[in-house]
Parts: sequence; C-alpha cells; structure tokens
Amino acid sequence: DLPTVQGNVNFKDLVFEYEPGRPALNRINLDVIAGQSIALVGHTGSGKSTIMNLLCRFYDPNEGVIEVDGYNIRNVTIQSLRSQIGVVLQDTFIFSGSIRDNIRFGRLDATDDEIEKVAKAVHAHDFIVGLPNGYDTEVQERGNILSMGQRQLISFARALLANPRVLILDEATASIDTDTELKIQEALKTLLAGRTSFIVAHRLSTIRNADKIVVLDHGRMMEIGNHDELMKE
Ligand code: ATP
Ligand code: MG
Repeated sequence: DLPTVQGNVNFKDLVFEYEPGRPALNRINLDVIAGQSIALVGHTGSGKSTIMNLLCRFYDPNEGVIEVDGYNIRNVTIQSLRSQIGVVLQDTFIFSGSIRDNIRFGRLDATDDEIEKVAKAVHAHDFIVGLPNGYDTEVQERGNILSMGQRQLISFARALLANPRVLILDEATASIDTDTELKIQEALKTLLAGRTSFIVAHRLSTIRNADKIVVLDHGRMMEIGNHDELMKE
C-alpha cells in the first residue's frame, strides 16, 4: 500500500503510446512539490488527459516512471493510490438523489455538519438553502434543477470533503454567469489550498494562479514557468 503521502509528484522521462508508433506522450519530465498547483494547457489531443490517466494508473507508461513521494506508483496497490487522488471531471457527475448525498459521495461517514461546512467553504451553501428542500432537495442525473456552475460547486464541495492529497481537475468550459464564475474562482482557491493539484485549465484566472504552467504540444512538453515568467519572454 501507498502510505499517506504529502503529494510530491515526479514524472520521469515518460513515454506512452495508446497505439504502437504513435506516442501520445513523449519524454515528459516534471517535478511537482507537494502543495503546488500545475496548470496543463495545450490543444485538443496534445496529451493533457493522458498524463492524468497515467497518474491514476488507468494506463501504465511504455517508458519512464511516475513517483508519488518517491514511490513508483506501479509498486503500490491501485486502490491505495487512487484513495489519495481526487478527480473532478469537466462533465460533473451528479446522480439522482439528494444534494446532501451528492456531496457525501465517497465519504459516506460524513456528518451533516461536515457537509454544510464544505458547502459553505465553496460558496454552495447559499444556493442550496434556497432550493425547495435545501440539502434534502432531490436532483436528477440529467435534470436541470442545477445550473452548470452550481453543479461545479457541488463537485468542489464533494472533492473538499474527500480531502485528497492530490487533486486532478478538468476545468469546465461551459459558459457560466459572471456571479457564479466569481464564486467558482474563490471556491477553487479554497479547494486547492494545501494540496497538489493538476488542472486542465481553460480559465485565464486559473492559469494565472498556477505555480507552474505546462504547455503540451503533440505529447511533448513545451514550456514550464508560471504566468509571470512566461509573460517576460
Ligand atoms: P482534449 O483537450 O481534447 O481533452 P487532450 O490534451 O486531453 O485533449 P488526450 O486525450 O491526452 O488529449 O489525447 C492525446 C492523444 O492520444 C491524441 O492523439 C488522442 O487521439 C490519443 N488518444 C487519447 N485517448 C485514446 C485512446 N483511448 N485510445 C487511443 N488513442 C487515444
Ligand atoms: Mg482531455
């Protein structure tokens, strides 16, 4: 098992091909210190999701290694690895059930107080208490009681409650009203604090706040630096 980690992540000379002869990742080297926030940017098909797929071990690399706190992730159980990695996907997963159960997902032991606390922290509490039955309001998987922005905030609350050391976040591209957008930005700061994060970033504000920006192009890593450093060039 992987012991509880701090969240240092190292990608060493990573090569990966879904199909022989067509590397989706080509010699990726990246050192991430626990607590850092990494923005992954690049055109469609450049390899952003693939890096995250490898970190979660949905696939193993053809060459190179990924280490978490110095442990080669191939040498630990997948369950112990994934239990410390949180994933927030672009297409936010809401299932049929109450808002409370949606936030509690993955942390069935969480108390109502804990749920309310994380909802407050990500600015979801106000809209939740405005719903017909508050936290007990039933939502449908594909129903539209919730806006895209609200769905995002629910998924942030869920991730915060799970409190993983490493967070992978595929930022939604859906257009969101300015008010909710500001809440999401604030919520992101809260969610990212004190953990390592990899964000497939679409918002300029997210890129600006990242400790490192990784630009991928055809599976190669093009540039690294934070926003200020890149702007100087
Ligand atoms: P997007 O911005 O569209 O999400 P991405 O940067 O996440 O793109 P990847 O999904 O990592 O890109 O894809 C990298 C390359 O690997 C692309 O050429 C893609 O076609 C290929 N690819 C991705 N998933 C698979 C798969 N399951 N089988 C085969 N090839 C794949
Ligand atoms: Mg992708």
